[in-house]
Amino acid sequence: MKTIFEKGHPGQGLSLLPSCDVPEIHLDHERMTPPRLPHLGENELTRHYKQLCDRVHGVNDGFYPLGSCTMKYNPKIDEELAALPGFTQVHPLQPVSTVQGCLEAMWTLEQSLCAVTGMDAVTLQPAAGAHGEFTGLLLIKAYHTHRGDSARTKIIVPDSAHGTNPASARMAGFDVVNIPSGPDGCVDLDALSAAVGPDTAGLMLTNPNTVGIFDKNILSITRIVHEAGGLCYYDGANLNAVAGVVRPGDMGFDVCHLNLHKTFAAPHGGGGPGSGPVGCKALLRDFLPGPQVEKTGEDYNFFTPAHSIGRVKGFYGNFTVTVKALAYLLTLGKEGVPEASENAVLNANYMMWRLAKTYDMAYNGWCMHEFVMTLEKLHKDTGVSAMDIAKGLLDHGIHPPTMYFPLIVHEALMVEPTETESKETMDEACAVFEQLYQDALRDPQSLHEAPRRTPVRRLDEVSAARNPVLRYEFPTGDGEAANP
Ligand SMILES: *Cc1c(COP(=O)(O)O)cnc(C)c1O
Repeated sequence: MKTIFEKGHPGQGLSLLPSCDVPEIHLDHERMTPPRLPHLGENELTRHYKQLCDRVHGVNDGFYPLGSCTMKYNPKIDEELAALPGFTQVHPLQPVSTVQGCLEAMWTLEQSLCAVTGMDAVTLQPAAGAHGEFTGLLLIKAYHTHRGDSARTKIIVPDSAHGTNPASARMAGFDVVNIPSGPDGCVDLDALSAAVGPDTAGLMLTNPNTVGIFDKNILSITRIVHEAGGLCYYDGANLNAVAGVVRPGDMGFDVCHLNLHKTFAAPHGGGGPGSGPVGCKALLRDFLPGPQVEKTGEDYNFFTPAHSIGRVKGFYGNFTVTVKALAYLLTLGKEGVPEASENAVLNANYMMWRLAKTYDMAYNGWCMHEFVMTLEKLHKDTGVSAMDIAKGLLDHGIHPPTMYFPLIVHEALMVEPTETESKETMDEACAVFEQLYQDALRDPQSLHEAPRRTPVRRLDEVSAARNPVLRYEFPTGDGEAANP
């Protein structure tokens, strides 16, 4: 497919703007050369973007069971509400008296998220889950430092944690101590007891964890860490499995983040704006980033907490993403939130128990919102890998599940149907999985050659990772600078 710069030619295009009828003003820092812009008519332009759109797979195209990423359908009404001019036609530096509605929306969402998580205060600033982790860890650090306890330099991270957990801990300046999971996919309590000590700043737990299991020992885990003087961080990106049913605050956690762009109605993927609010118990409240919203009588105002770690994001976070979450929460209400979680768990179990008749599951028993299959035996017997099955799914219009993650499972495929898929869609997807298994037994070569029906076939992933070409090279000598 041609790039937009390879289409059209100078002179082509459509300008609907009338010619300028006021004197032109020249600025001091004017650019030397005109910007390089594509020359296309509106018609060609629309077709170009439609073609690009046709080449990707989104939740609007078909089933997208990308475990750990929660690619679910989000109600369009939440987009409509977040797009209201009262939310979008405001400036972040406007006097607060003129944006009371926006502050009320932020404050109401903070209260709602406190109710959902069992925390005492929330910041809406972090722009993503990993950013929330980083923020939460800075709170933990500030807490220990404030108490004059400088020996607590270690964060314990179980091997079933999301990959961002150890990375965030390092970013926040901690040393990471990894502890193993048992064969049941839960934290090994003996390993945890052996790991904690006077150097423990805290523990980060992803729950339900990356193998889709709710840790049955969760209360013992938080007790062990607290008795050693550490704090407990809950990675709540998987909250769509438990929201409205159990709360991190009640499980003994001191701080947690949520992914609004997974659980609460903001679409994500492709680097779109996300939001990873952080909730904390009262003991960490004074360290939260500022500004925070407070309500005095009928008025809303900003304030900065006494020992704030400072800003972690410009202004107030990705504001319209938070409005979508508020709209979603208020539409679902107290009954709807747990119902959504229950459906996420029901759907995952529905698919898992049907597929368990064909595929090996990495763990036995009930799962939460996602489950992990291991294709180790199939790979050994037929040469067909998890990658081959994933590529085969593409030919059936299904986005592959998460592959080769979590690392503790060999030939892993991690499936998360989400609560928004119908029984019919899941039945069709299961039938495709079953057919691919039969294909693997009968004709492994056909799967090594998949996909056949996608715009591109197998990509050279090693080269793509090692020598990524991230910049378009313009042909030189066309009269414009080579660097736009
Ligand atoms: C997605 C996810 C994260 C990271 O969230 P981002 O918004 O991608 O930074 C962290 N933990 C878990 C369990 C996740 O699923």
